Amino acid sequence: MKRIDVIPMPNKITYLGGETKINPEKLAATVSDSLEQEEYVLTADKNGVQILGGSEKAVFYAKQTLLQLGEVCPCVKIEDKPAFAHRGFMLDTVRHIFSVEDTKKLIDAAASVKMNVMHWHLTDDQGFRIYSSRRPDAALKGSVRKSSDFGRLKESGEYGGYFTADEMKEIVDYCAERYITVIPEFDIPGHSSALLHAFPQLSCKGEEVEVKTSQGIYEDILCAGNDETLDVVFDILSDILEIFPSEYIHIGGDEAPKARWKECPHCQERMKKEGLKDEETLQGWFTNQVVEFLKTKGRKAVVWNESLKSGVVDGSVTVQMWMDKKKLSVDFANDGGRMINSDFFHYYCDYPYGMTPLIKTYNYNPVDKKIKDKSSVIGVEAPIWTEYINSFEHLCHMFFPRVTAVAETGWTYETNKNAADFQRRFMAYSDILKKIGIIPAPPEEWNPSLFDRLTKTVSFFTGVMKRNN
Ligand SMILES: [Zn+2]
Repeated sequence: MKRIDVIPMPNKITYLGGETKINPEKLAATVSDSLEQEEYVLTADKNGVQILGGSEKAVFYAKQTLLQLGEVCPCVKIEDKPAFAHRGFMLDTVRHIFSVEDTKKLIDAAASVKMNVMHWHLTDDQGFRIYSSRRPDAALKGSVRKSSDFGRLKESGEYGGYFTADEMKEIVDYCAERYITVIPEFDIPGHSSALLHAFPQLSCKGEEVEVKTSQGIYEDILCAGNDETLDVVFDILSDILEIFPSEYIHIGGDEAPKARWKECPHCQERMKKEGLKDEETLQGWFTNQVVEFLKTKGRKAVVWNESLKSGVVDGSVTVQMWMDKKKLSVDFANDGGRMINSDFFHYYCDYPYGMTPLIKTYNYNPVDKKIKDKSSVIGVEAPIWTEYINSFEHLCHMFFPRVTAVAETGWTYETNKNAADFQRRFMAYSDILKKIGIIPAPPEEWNPSLFDRLTKTVSFFTGVMKRNN
């Protein structure tokens, strides 16, 4: 009997016997309070297609399932809802910029596998890509770097660009039509070289800072002792809030070295005045100032897991775990916090398939064994960083099918998980990607042999080490 090939695999499928031709004209959709917000029941039989959804969003999800069923499909009843509330992908448009048109293709693909969050990484050391009308210099001065040298990927000549408010709104609207929330990321207090280039007075030394041309962790970060720092941050955030309606705003907080703060009289004075025991606690204090600002506007913050190091960060934040040996994110979740899993070793889609094969991504369990209450893990997210990716084709090659595997985990984390079956279904699903204009990596590259994995991983890291020396 013909089975249905859908990604993510629906949680419950009842085959009713026989086949039916899908006629979109004979589609009846009803919204019902008896179902959860993202839950739907889809029946396709001789009488046509009936959809019952917990909301318009759920009806949209049922239609995505329907699109994958094809024109002729077995008669089925599908009862389905997601395993996680947050099912996201993260796009880095700092290291390399991707056009609004190409970004829309990623959004189409995400919607087709029922993802509901686009995390947009817009500011970093190598460029500031948000145009802020209150602080135009941030983008006008901070968006351009003199060249690009990411080791394996070098490009001479200036590289720059930023998104206008209209362009960002265009993405927000495009996402909203597909029930995707855009969470913008304004990464502070570290990864701020581009912002400091525009506002050198906000660095602890007050000296000129270049927009960085290569990747790394840089010591010049925003001065937490200078009141003007928060003025600028709040102004830019005010513009961000006008563009992005999302309840959650990502404020970064990763990889913020404390060397400058240790030597800065203003930062030291702040610590004394606020009774903060060390520089890590100063970062906690800084983060909390921003969290409080967001609260006054009815918003909340997402932070990378390093933000938890101080132990004083407001419990209302959601932590995005990417690399967390001490499992502070797990402790945070067990204390009642919310956590998103973006594990580096499984979900970072910019690393070679040799290092992170598709099966490894697919089989990863995003709920750590030490998590007491599963519901504290609100979701999964696949990031793609773009130091080594300068074309949309390359981006798609790295992202697909891995991001789709994360989408499936987000939807059916405990039921129906089967890597071999997923890979088989992906072949059928790639027709949808092709229509969108996305070419995934070919199957022979998904799961390299152990030998290939070792050699590729070694050559990758040799490249990284050459770059850093
Ligand atoms: Zn300082």
